[in-house]
Amino acid sequence: MEPKKKMDIVVIGGGAAGYFGAIRAAAMHPDARVTLLEATRKPLTKVRVSGGGRCNVTHHCFDPAILVQRYPRGGKELRGAFARFQPKDTVAWFESKGVQLKIEGDGRMFPVTDDSKTIIDCLEREVETRGVIIKLGNMVRSIVRGPNGFEINVKIAGDESIVTADAVLLTTGGMPGGFQLAGSLGHTIMAPVPSLFTFVVKDSRIDGLSGISFPEVKGELICGGVTLKQTGPLLITHWGLSGPVILKLSAFGARLLHECDYQAKLHLDFVPHLTALDLEVGLRAEKESRPKQCPANHSLFKVTRRFWSQILPSVGIGPDLPWSDVTRVQMMQLIDTLKHATFQISGKGEFKEEFVTAGGVSLKEIDFRTMQSKICAGLYFAGEILDVDGITGGYNFQNAWTTSWIAGSNILE
Ligand SMILES: Cc1cc2nc3c(=O)[nH]c(=O)nc-3n(C[C@H](O)[C@H](O)[C@H](O)COP(=O)(O)OP(=O)(O)OC[C@H]3O[C@@H](n4cnc5c(N)ncnc54)[C@H](O)[C@@H]3O)c2cc1C
Repeated sequence: MEPKKKMDIVVIGGGAAGYFGAIRAAAMHPDARVTLLEATRKPLTKVRVSGGGRCNVTHHCFDPAILVQRYPRGGKELRGAFARFQPKDTVAWFESKGVQLKIEGDGRMFPVTDDSKTIIDCLEREVETRGVIIKLGNMVRSIVRGPNGFEINVKIAGDESIVTADAVLLTTGGMPGGFQLAGSLGHTIMAPVPSLFTFVVKDSRIDGLSGISFPEVKGELICGGVTLKQTGPLLITHWGLSGPVILKLSAFGARLLHECDYQAKLHLDFVPHLTALDLEVGLRAEKESRPKQCPANHSLFKVTRRFWSQILPSVGIGPDLPWSDVTRVQMMQLIDTLKHATFQISGKGEFKEEFVTAGGVSLKEIDFRTMQSKICAGLYFAGEILDVDGITGGYNFQNAWTTSWIAGSNILE
């Protein structure tokens, strides 16, 4: 009797999703040959630089119903996927490999070593233990689906060769070449646009205030007739506005903002915990109890002093104007500035800590129970190549872990 042919699983792309998927596939199919093809000589590059070199592995949010709300694209599809593999499973998986994760105050989870190398070493150790063949400097140029499997054209240092596979897991991230591969096999690619960025705002009310932060601000982004709302900390930067509230608005508004060429309006409520009436009562009390004092001398409503002194002139309250001379109109304008300040966004700024692309392989063409393509049997997808992206905080890696785990669990089934 002829010996049974060894099945070939080929993973394309050596990022978080590729490594995790290859490890899972090899664990599920110890008799198969699992080969990972990575174009560059340095795999796991994004893991290395992620989270400022500390790697924000996941988020301490173990309720799939809440978790999915952190994904501007893909939340609906990930609902069932998180029932199979969610942040709790990520934590348990790394722990089972000797890597402890810790939770920061805002819910982000990092290795206790505060070093992304810990995650890289763990993934490298696991591929070795599972016998995954890692081929670096192997750039996949084309994939053809034949009656007996896949033929993969690979460029290695100027030479071309063909690799065959019974099943393929495509994890090429947000790279255009990967989108072309998926497209050539019949998939629709949702146009890639940047997500997670800061807003360029030139406005005298924030000029020179770089570094000032607000613990909680309510933001309303108005773009192309649509209004998006988010709440969170705000940071004033050299070029405009940043911080979690802005990053969330940029992620949920990624497509809209791209269509509007990053020209939009932003309303900010700097004191969302207080109503306009609370502010009016507070200002009146101040005017009555300290008529000779100048408003510029001390800030109210826990607004930072520098910001307070900067907004007063914008409503005509100079540094030497006493409370007794502050008019009702000026008080109303001050309330409006604090509760409903309008800023003009004039461009897209950088967010160096995390860079993510919205867009990728259309989710309608993927069976999220297995991560197999509905168009090309035997082809699986995971990670950022999909039209899935999360807000900042470990959600993008969680998408990579979850989808690649499911793909690796179901490949060859
Ligand atoms: C600076 C930065 C910091 C980040 N920090 C965080 C963070 O702290 N937390 C978080 O959740 N997310 C973070 N992200 C996002 C996160 O890194 C990505 O969502 C995640 O790495 C996506 O993993 P992936 O495996 O799908 O794709 P990638 O990591 O992009 O890997 C794709 C791999 O495929 C290879 N490849 C591409 N085309 C081919 C081809 N034709 N043939 C062979 N190989 C190919 C590429 O070389 C690459 O190695 C960060 C991103 C950046 C850029």
